[in-house]
Amino acid sequence: MPLYEYYCPTCKLKFEALADLADHDKPAECPNCSNEAPRVISPTTFILKGNGWGRDCYSSGPDKSCKRGANKKDVEKAIKGK
Ligand SMILES: [Zn+2]
Repeated sequence: MPLYEYYCPTCKLKFEALADLADHDKPAECPNCSNEAPRVISPTTFILKGNGWGRDCYSSGPDKSCKRGANKKDVEKAIKGK
């Protein structure tokens, strides 16, 4: 199960919790005050994938409409054209 980051607006607590993929956009229960804490989308998750296409691939699912190959060709083209 993936680890997600949550932020409790009631007690300003940031915490991580494991959640099913189906529940990934549902709020979690704050371990401190038991109120609902919405999920935080951490930008660091995407930085690891690099080059900007990671975000698109991630949102459209793995290897579905991923533009990785096309973008890589474009980059090579740009480098050769210089
Ligand atoms: Zn809380």
